Amino acid sequence: MITRIIKDVNTAVKEITDGNVISLPTETVYGLAGDALNPDAVLKIFEVKNRPSFNPLIVHINSIDDISVYGEEIPEELYKIAEKFSPGPITYVVKKKQIIPDIVTAGLDSVALRIPAHPLFSEVIRISGKPVAAPSANMFGRISPTNALDVLKELNGKIKFILDGGECNVGIESTVISFTEALRSGTINILRPGFITKEEIEDVSGIKINPEINSGQVIVYNNYRETDSGIIKPVEDREINLLSPGMLKNHYAPLTPLFLTDDIDYFLTNYIPAAGVINLETFGSLHNIAVNLFRVLREYDEKKFEYIVVSKVKNFGIGTAINDRLTKASAGFVRIQNNELIFIGK
Ligand code: AMP
Ligand code: MG
Repeated sequence: MITRIIKDVNTAVKEITDGNVISLPTETVYGLAGDALNPDAVLKIFEVKNRPSFNPLIVHINSIDDISVYGEEIPEELYKIAEKFSPGPITYVVKKKQIIPDIVTAGLDSVALRIPAHPLFSEVIRISGKPVAAPSANMFGRISPTNALDVLKELNGKIKFILDGGECNVGIESTVISFTEALRSGTINILRPGFITKEEIEDVSGIKINPEINSGQVIVYNNYRETDSGIIKPVEDREINLLSPGMLKNHYAPLTPLFLTDDIDYFLTNYIPAAGVINLETFGSLHNIAVNLFRVLREYDEKKFEYIVVSKVKNFGIGTAINDRLTKASAGFVRIQNNELIFIGK
């Protein structure tokens, strides 16, 4: 199959309505999209990405009114948050309606809904008249693409079209918040930190975020746990309610091992040929770091260093999401002791 980068929205719409998958631009990262109401199309998304079937997909819709078309028992607080941040990089997990096929939600009785802000994606939803399921347009576990060329490098030969919508202006995935727990306990859970921050959500909703789930470190998904040796095991019944699906320990990873460090200044001042040193500070604001993070990881991956080193950023606001991605992408930690490098695996 030949993969072409296109600009024509109608070609993209036809692929979706024909039950095929295509890459579409969103404001966060590029998506691998298909008709969310067509189980065969959704299966193709999982196959192209090699994504495990127990990792549920986000369904993209065009209006706040559509939330109650695909979800139910929607709390008032969700609407307060949606009025402020949607369309935009925030996803709401709510109880699902029957119309959403089980394959989309990995068999869960909840569905993740987002109203994307990219005009081309909105056009595709509007013209096709379909809700669109779309995870990021990368092979499972790899770095999310933030421009059409990076999608091509990732999925060349696997899909027919990539709709080119330019560089993504958010650069990291949406914040995923859950209301299914909130209904029971009066809190909101952040299942994945993202561009919209915990503080912003608390301000608008007047509800506290549940601090335990908001760790970005949850490694249990559905009924399975990833053990330290990488083996997936069923979890105990009592664990299932506590934790969220789809939160993998290793994710967003370059092929070159990535090491986090607190000693970035050492790497910047001592030339080590094996090390690709990413200095995130050169991007200035946390916002700008988020926009450039995945692109720069891909760029360094292509340079074929033995390893890449990077330091975490300040852990507040968007920094929480950036650090979440860096931790999941990393192979471990490196520090300097007596002028020697000490590598510690994850
Ligand atoms: P991605 O497709 O890689 O952007 O990831 C989507 C994220 O949303 C994953 O972390 C999923 O686990 C999460 N998600 C999607 N649907 C649900 C759901 N029904 N319940 C909880 N989390 C979900
Ligand atoms: Mg992804």
